[in-house]
Amino acid sequence: GITDFITEDTEEARLAADRPLSVIEGPLMAGMNVVGDLFGSGKMFLPQVVKSARVMKQAVAYLLPYMDKEKEEKGLTQSSSAGKILMATVKGDVHDIGKNIVGVVLQCNNYEVIDLGVMVPAQKILDKAREVGADLIGLSGLITPSLDEMVNVASEMQRQGFTLPLLIGGATTSRAHTAVKVDHKYDGPVVWVKDASRSVPVTAALLDPKQRDKLLANVSADYDSLRARHAAKNDRPLATIEEARAARTPIEWNGYRPPRPRLLLQQDHAVSSAVGLPGAGQHVRVFHSVDLAELRRYIDWQPFFNAWEMKGSFPEILDDAESGETARKLYDDAQVMLDRIVDEGWLTAKGVVGLFPANSVGDDIEVYLGEERGDAHAVLRHLRQQGAHRPGVPNRCLADFVAPKETGLKDYIGLFAVTAGIGTHERIEKFKAEVDDYSGILLESLADRLAEAFAERLHERVRRELWGYAPDEHLDNHQLLKEQYAGIRPAAGYPASPDHTEKEVLWDLLDVEANTGMQLTESMAMWPGASVSGIYFSHPESQYFVVGRLGPDQVADYAERKGWTLAEAERWLSPNLGYDPED
Ligand code: SAH
Repeated sequence: GITDFITEDTEEARLAADRPLSVIEGPLMAGMNVVGDLFGSGKMFLPQVVKSARVMKQAVAYLLPYMDKEKEEKGLTQSSSAGKILMATVKGDVHDIGKNIVGVVLQCNNYEVIDLGVMVPAQKILDKAREVGADLIGLSGLITPSLDEMVNVASEMQRQGFTLPLLIGGATTSRAHTAVKVDHKYDGPVVWVKDASRSVPVTAALLDPKQRDKLLANVSADYDSLRARHAAKNDRPLATIEEARAARTPIEWNGYRPPRPRLLLQQDHAVSSAVGLPGAGQHVRVFHSVDLAELRRYIDWQPFFNAWEMKGSFPEILDDAESGETARKLYDDAQVMLDRIVDEGWLTAKGVVGLFPANSVGDDIEVYLGEERGDAHAVLRHLRQQGAHRPGVPNRCLADFVAPKETGLKDYIGLFAVTAGIGTHERIEKFKAEVDDYSGILLESLADRLAEAFAERLHERVRRELWGYAPDEHLDNHQLLKEQYAGIRPAAGYPASPDHTEKEVLWDLLDVEANTGMQLTESMAMWPGASVSGIYFSHPESQYFVVGRLGPDQVADYAERKGWTLAEAERWLSPNLGYDPED
């Protein structure tokens, strides 16, 4: 993976070779084959592969002008690729670390990769596939609405007469989803790929007529059994929404005193001297440029190693007999880049937090601007677990953790949105121009870490200062990451609040776009990608849970509360539907 003398070495090889292409087909391919084999057999790790790819790509970049010249002078063509792969993150989704990694790994294995980037509409993917004569299409996505968009791409491929294999990958995708929702939309092969290391054998098998039938027979047997399992799961009984509501989280409100946010106490003071009614702005605190050196101390390194597909726990992984050396190098590279991110101001972290009077009304949380708590200024809608639980096990809903309006208690809710991704795009383009995917992916993964660290730090400040219900809390980073504090910060689109569209309410309440520049895509992905948002609950009994499967009665009820048609509700909630809406 060392690039120090790559130009000199490539030039030496070029002088010794009959044509520039022979350098690629000879020593470079030989080297990459070794890398590919070692990676495939688990003896080499992803960071080393990405670094090796950088060596290869820089060598190829050096050879390109010579190859172009040869083509011009002698008309010699230059194709040695094992296949053309078109990749894209689907419409509405912005995250692409995984896709970038897969792209690099495939390139290492001599596939030509055409990467259309993020937020790519179906038609653009299909047009490009035709234009370049792709052998295979790979789709990537991070958030649940992308699952539907992948179904859409598959349907369009069928309608437009494609027969190419379709690969599915990304955080919320799964074998089960691919089997149940995507596979039957398209007659061509559809294969779910777990991670970058699986992408190569799957691609190789799909493009090899000798291996293809066997792979597809295995996949299809596997998908049949997954479909059977899924059908059985949907047969399991659900509580009615009335039964589930009767089994809400038992919280003793009698005698409970909700803590009043200090931020609001300060604002009372400010408002008394201001003219007119308090607007939402007075409940909100904006952070324009947060000190990255401070955020750095709050980084959770475990997900960093996960992103790099390094298995094992941090910090033990640094001393692992097999992967320790690679892990240490990656960690060191990360520290060096973090130094530069901080010292040279590569990234800007911005955030906004708001604390509001709030009460629950059924499964909704009403948000008010003033303490009178009359008409709601905004309503946060929540979903309730409908799994048929054992007696005594509650059917939880996040609204359970806020004092019901009828108790007369004055409770509160917090909302936040933070990003550390401002500046990443420009910097990554620069790395790409320098043929340095390794640094680009490293930066993306560090921006994600800083955004999560910002969320951790801000939550701490909320508990200690801004809401101030735990002024004496002193936890070290390990304790913070283990969530040894009172209160939670669930994120819209995650298991306790799976409806991504609730981010729209949050964006309005905090004026997130104007205050931070963070935007929502049509699928409710946050842009920049290195962003986190969520809701703060202060009640000591509040906890994370999984809403899971929803019955048709709750979906209809939710549609009405959100002002949606039933079809809209079933689309946004599709990963959670406990029934088949087409039945
Ligand atoms: N330390 C991690 C970030 C915390 S992951 C990192 O650096 O990546 C835990 C976060 O995920 C929680 O704070 C919450 O925001 C979200 N989360 C976890 N479980 C959840 C659930 N069941 N429902 C909603 N959000 C959840």
